[in-house]
Amino acid sequence: MLSIQGLKAKVADKEILHGLDLEVGAGEVHAIMGPNGSGKSTLAGVLAGRDAYTVTGGRVLYQGEDLLALSPEKRAAQGVFLAFQYPVEIPGVANMYFLRTALNAIRKARGEEPLDAMDFLALAKEKMKLVKMDPSFANRGVNEGFSGGEKKRNEIVQMAVLEPKLAVLDEIDSGLDIDALRVVAEGVNALRSKDRAMIVVTHYQRLLDYIRPDHVHVMAAGRIVTSGGPELALELEHKGYGWIEKEPPPRT
Ligand code: ADP
Ligand code: MG
Ligand code: MG
Repeated sequence: MLSIQGLKAKVADKEILHGLDLEVGAGEVHAIMGPNGSGKSTLAGVLAGRDAYTVTGGRVLYQGEDLLALSPEKRAAQGVFLAFQYPVEIPGVANMYFLRTALNAIRKARGEEPLDAMDFLALAKEKMKLVKMDPSFANRGVNEGFSGGEKKRNEIVQMAVLEPKLAVLDEIDSGLDIDALRVVAEGVNALRSKDRAMIVVTHYQRLLDYIRPDHVHVMAAGRIVTSGGPELALELEHKGYGWIEKEPPPRT
């Protein structure tokens, strides 16, 4: 599904990713952990094609094709979805109007008919139930005045509606209390499927108690420095990140 080879990228003339390798297969959930500033959001932003990042080396194959050659819109149309660490607010644009527009752009790119307002609303309401989101959020401005937890739930609703093949979730747990964390994690788990790969970026092990990943990778200073199974996340919980930065263990 995704093959990242020697990826280098810079932000504002500073190289942040220094040669990152990652292989993700269909149906797999990969957790990417690491200290603040290690480049996790940079990786997510590069995969989504955000303007702020410039790729300076390496390659990224998505379903065997050069992902980096595609515009952000084409990436979305081909099933790449990114949930941001800091979801944008778009005051004055109704939340579900925005999402319907996004969905119909993707459907159009695939040669499918647009969903009309009624059909879309039925779909959106069903998906909102997944994360126990009140129907009143359909008509509010996109993330406008949403709490941290409501924004994260909204990201999961977007993912559920857009049905991506590859979802990258950047710190969907940040700022959530334990109940919201559980709801968001259950939403994510409901969307796990053999056809869908997920990359779950998190600073904390806690999320991985609820979303049990197949593989765990640790980033430090712009690279993946070690990989393992879920037990690696627990080890980090006990030891912190200091040991990885001092003396990276061999990759397994
Ligand atoms: P993480 O998500 O792992 O906390 P980031 O990818 O957000 O890390 O950041 C990696 C590094 O890139 C940090 O040192 C951060 O300060 C720097 N960085 C990120 N965005 C910018 C930017 N827009 N301008 C300058 N530096 C940036
Ligand atoms: Mg961070
Ligand atoms: Mg980040």
